[in-house]
Amino acid sequence: MSAAPFHDLIIIGAGPAGANAALSAAGAGLDVVLVDEAAHPGGQVWRAPAAGTHPPPDPDLTRGNHLRAQVAQAGVALRAQTVVWSVAATQDGFEVAIASPQGPELIGTRRLLVATGAQERVVPFAGWTLPGVFGLAAATVLLKSENFLPGRRILVAGQGPLLVAVAAKALKLGKAPVAVVDFNGLGRWVQALRGFVGHLPSLRQGLTWQAKLALAGVPILRKHAISRAEANDAGALGAVHVTPVGGGTPRMFEVDTAFVGNSLVPGDEILRLLGARRRPDPLTGWRIEADDEGRCKIPGLYVAGDAGRIRGALPAAAQGTRTGLAIARDAGCALSAAPAKTPRRMDRFADASCSLMQVDDARIAGLADDVVLCRCEDVTVGAVRGAIADGAQDANQLKHFTRLGMGPCQGRMCGANAAALLRTSPGTKPGGDVLTPRSPLHPVAVAQLAGQFDYADIPVPKPAPL
Ligand SMILES: Cc1cc2nc3c(=O)[nH]c(=O)nc-3n(C[C@H](O)[C@H](O)[C@H](O)COP(=O)(O)OP(=O)(O)OC[C@H]3O[C@@H](n4cnc5c(N)ncnc54)[C@H](O)[C@@H]3O)c2cc1C
Repeated sequence: MSAAPFHDLIIIGAGPAGANAALSAAGAGLDVVLVDEAAHPGGQVWRAPAAGTHPPPDPDLTRGNHLRAQVAQAGVALRAQTVVWSVAATQDGFEVAIASPQGPELIGTRRLLVATGAQERVVPFAGWTLPGVFGLAAATVLLKSENFLPGRRILVAGQGPLLVAVAAKALKLGKAPVAVVDFNGLGRWVQALRGFVGHLPSLRQGLTWQAKLALAGVPILRKHAISRAEANDAGALGAVHVTPVGGGTPRMFEVDTAFVGNSLVPGDEILRLLGARRRPDPLTGWRIEADDEGRCKIPGLYVAGDAGRIRGALPAAAQGTRTGLAIARDAGCALSAAPAKTPRRMDRFADASCSLMQVDDARIAGLADDVVLCRCEDVTVGAVRGAIADGAQDANQLKHFTRLGMGPCQGRMCGANAAALLRTSPGTKPGGDVLTPRSPLHPVAVAQLAGQFDYADIPVPKPAPL
């Protein structure tokens, strides 16, 4: 590969945080490259519909369209459909390894902003890996990009604001859920209302969704959770058993599809690979150590949005703008305006959303031995407990003992749950609950890394002298 082209700023992730940071940094005069594996900016929440899909009007779509138009006009070099699969610190800054349909490339930068968003967390149950069980956040991806949800008899389960959003959108598509299974009781929602008042349009939308579900007669089982799922004769999802939280008689629902999700966790592998540290956060589990403008302790490294701490789209956008301006100021650009703080009402809204997505370690510690924890490598809770009993003291040792986290998701799905098991097991190393990230950070096809080439162009080495 030729020498890496060098830029003022590379931003990984073109969601609300990264794209807004790109707009403010480019507006201040920096040469900005914005990289995203998606085809268009927007991230998870302001995702662009796939070509030929015409989803109904929606505030997220409007915001996304506006953001995409702004990025197109801002003089930002957008590298879409491009995955960052490795990063390294260099003498001058950072080297970012990307793979796109055009092949692999290394690009260099003095400053790096990581705005890679969040990942979904599911509390596992027996049968959660059956075909027909989907993530709740994954359902929003299908809804936004394809205006579609699979399944005929569906059930929506888990906790947090996405629960109602997905159930209401399923209803709108003519697929009324047979039940919505909410881990939280009504009391938790009423408590959260005080924070939700911080963003009235979202509160109104949430209440409208709840009302529509009630009018359509969709049963909402509060303080319940799926205890297990059963396969049908074809080996796909056939039924789920739903049990009151704290114990009680389970109810069975025959379904072919379940959307299940409990929480979101920061997608912070790139930051940790570069040495950024996590610290515990009472509401969101953990966050990346950074100052209020997104500066990590590693010189030149910045974070914005959910990658640093789960806050949601609007705070991510505001933080992106602030961090983009902070980077421009650090780079010596003269700024006419001081970066604005995230309004407190937005913070209160984010706190309320996160309070509904809390997963206590005790819940994971209470899982039965036969429940699969790492679905890529088929590692059960019992196997993890066995490894800890055999002497595995931290997450990396668990990986060596069991292969947990070695699959394509690299622990993004099971890491938080394995960490909870470690924290609740005696004899484990305090602070050793996080898997060390490794490249490739995302699955990349060998063909993508090899790129376009002609066999005739491959230099043939001289035969070695005999
Ligand atoms: C699957 C999913 C669905 C969600 N749906 C909703 C929703 O419907 N409504 C809602 O309010 N909140 C939703 N959320 C929460 C939501 O992500 C945010 O709160 C908000 O989008 C955060 O903005 P962000 O800019 O920090 O990150 P994001 O919007 O997540 O943007 C991050 C971007 O980084 C890119 N990226 C990540 N890693 C790499 C890499 N290695 N190489 C290249 N690009 C990379 C991603 O493609 C993505 O576009 C969802 C979260 C997830 C995980």
